[in-house]
Amino acid sequence: MIEIFGAGLVFICDEEFQILSNGGIAFESSKDSILRVGDYKSLCAEFKNAKKTFVPNGILLPTLINAHIHFEFGGHLAQFCYGDFGEWLDSLMANRDNVLKNDDFESIITQGIDEQIKAGVGSVGAISSYGDDMEILAHSPLRCVYFNEAIGSNPSAIDFLYANVLERLKNAKKLKSPTFTPALALHSPYSLHPIMAQKLVELCVSENLPLSAHFLESPQERQWLDGQDGYFQGFFKRLANIDNAKPFYTSQSFLEMLSPLSNALCLTHCLQITQKELDLCQNATLITCPRSNRLLNNAFLPFEILQNHPTAIGTDGKSSNNNVNLLDELRTALYAYPQADILELSKILLLSATLYGAKALGLNNGILAQNKNVDFAIFDFKEPLYHTNQTHQNQAPLHFILNANSPTHLYINAKAVI
Ligand SMILES: [Zn+2]
Repeated sequence: MIEIFGAGLVFICDEEFQILSNGGIAFESSKDSILRVGDYKSLCAEFKNAKKTFVPNGILLPTLINAHIHFEFGGHLAQFCYGDFGEWLDSLMANRDNVLKNDDFESIITQGIDEQIKAGVGSVGAISSYGDDMEILAHSPLRCVYFNEAIGSNPSAIDFLYANVLERLKNAKKLKSPTFTPALALHSPYSLHPIMAQKLVELCVSENLPLSAHFLESPQERQWLDGQDGYFQGFFKRLANIDNAKPFYTSQSFLEMLSPLSNALCLTHCLQITQKELDLCQNATLITCPRSNRLLNNAFLPFEILQNHPTAIGTDGKSSNNNVNLLDELRTALYAYPQADILELSKILLLSATLYGAKALGLNNGILAQNKNVDFAIFDFKEPLYHTNQTHQNQAPLHFILNANSPTHLYINAKAVI
């Protein structure tokens, strides 16, 4: 049977940010491929026997994509220090085991998943340090790219750590499905031995796996990679009693290591990135996590980068945020760039949560178009959000970010989740 869903406004979420009035999508029940996108009445005329749903004051758009989230740290409330990256990392190292050793681990992950769905998120890029959230995410309704994260700089522990990440990847491969994609993450240039990193990059190239890395998040990281001193010198002395530790990479050599990757490479944070470095990572999609960046580094990704380089958005984990609600993240980002035209910014942000999220994670969704996955949400409002300003531009993208709370309909993989 064919199903048609329509709404007063449809955000296609293509590069031009097309908005259809009284538009809709058609798909065959349980088949994860959009048949048609267009005018609602025309769709109804074409598919006469279809099951039809129309929400007059609604906005229909692709399900949102939270491109960077750590579910494992969901148990944290106020154990970590904010305001300075170094203080935060020290507090994370000191309290990490307490936060992770929560009796209620399963319900914490489940709550994180519920929070995604209730905010209209259908896909996530989940960074996992330990693998304990793997089964729950694989069996959840979310479409999940599951990044098994590698971390470790101590040469004597590398064999063990490398075997551990391969074991987690092997387990993730057993759970592979249309909604669960195994992938790898390199924690960051400051925390990863190059022999292990190099092997994992080669694995991603040969098996076409998505790869994620945190990159140039803090001034401390910049100073370490390119000045070989500062906070991280003391960090490695305290952590591993290493005198005169040296960084494994410069920022440039780290990017060069990633250059063979062409499929779904994402670099998260990048607050310190320069134009020269951006030119070196044309194969990557950036991911910004505005609230985490404000809390840890007192900064937002520069607007010029957001505007000119495809950038996805994520909430990061609760270890650096008060919640993992992507709509709240979008609202914060809306207030982070007072120099930007607010309507243009709204469109850029909505694309970061749809089209560019899909690009970052290598997914076939994030846009309403023929042959894309049947991943969409409808948000209903008590009045239409269609208002034109003096230059006759539709202000609905802005009003959507301000007012959207929870969808009335949410489909992932052609299945109704809400
Ligand atoms: Zn992160």
